[in-house]
Amino acid sequence: MNESSSRVVVITGGSRGIGRAVALRFAEEKAVVVLVHYDPDDEAARETEALLAEHGVKASSYRVDVSSRQAVVELFSEIHESFGVTDVLVNNAGITRDTLLMRMTESDWDAVMQVNLKSVFNCTQAVLRPMVKKRGGCIVNISSVVGQIGNAGQANYAASKAGIMGFTKSVAREVAGRGLRVNAVAPGFIDTEMTAVLPEKVKEEFLRQIPMSRMGTPRDVAEAVYWLASEAAAYITGQVIHVNGGMYM
Ligand code: NAP
Repeated sequence: MNESSSRVVVITGGSRGIGRAVALRFAEEKAVVVLVHYDPDDEAARETEALLAEHGVKASSYRVDVSSRQAVVELFSEIHESFGVTDVLVNNAGITRDTLLMRMTESDWDAVMQVNLKSVFNCTQAVLRPMVKKRGGCIVNISSVVGQIGNAGQANYAASKAGIMGFTKSVAREVAGRGLRVNAVAPGFIDTEMTAVLPEKVKEEFLRQIPMSRMGTPRDVAEAVYWLASEAAAYITGQVIHVNGGMYM
């Protein structure tokens, strides 16, 4: 059990990109950081652990497919046993399988819905009862600007991210009276491995749509997540905070 007063923060997809930046942001308050990732090549997770160690935080990482319900149930029972009840859950794991709907396969659709949306159901449900019992806790779900405005070639991804917005608002209403807050952050075009693979033409087109004329950094997103999980946001629940340089207003 976590005997200190440090918050227990679980970040899915915490090995790299936005999840890593979120982990580093929470490391600044010396939180107990738990990273979840799935790639058998765990080099990114090791790197994140090393970066967290530089902040004096000993992070734990677990290799779990967050779309698997049973695996998630077991994961959180282990986390709660080892560190205590989750104080902050950041549902950040996500993938893309971009293609026009005419060409989209059932497996393109299913993979994205499972990893991006079902995982949010799995992990949120796993922490909810203990959080309710403790009468405190915070959940931040990572959606996307395309869940709001759509994007050609991303019908599966946009649907999963719009689903996260509806999920966030519904669960926020269910648990607000129990002292729990549930919010979402919808990043715009952020500089990570997910966007690095996009063709130059697509990147230029995205940049043209951003009034601030630059990609966001993972840290830009992490600051919003951190703030939503802080006491400064104590009266904020069921909201979607857009971090997108003005791409959608
Ligand atoms: P990223 O660099 O591709 O990182 C994705 C993370 O998710 C990795 O840590 C990955 O770990 C983990 N992950 C993927 N599948 C998983 C699974 N089945 N189980 C557990 N973990 C899994 O992506 P990112 O750009 O940081 O994006 C993070 C979140 O922000 C995603 O939800 C994404 O949709 C959202 N977002 C990103 C942008 C953007 O422009 N980058 C914009 C809007 C929203 P492994 O590789 O070890 O599996």
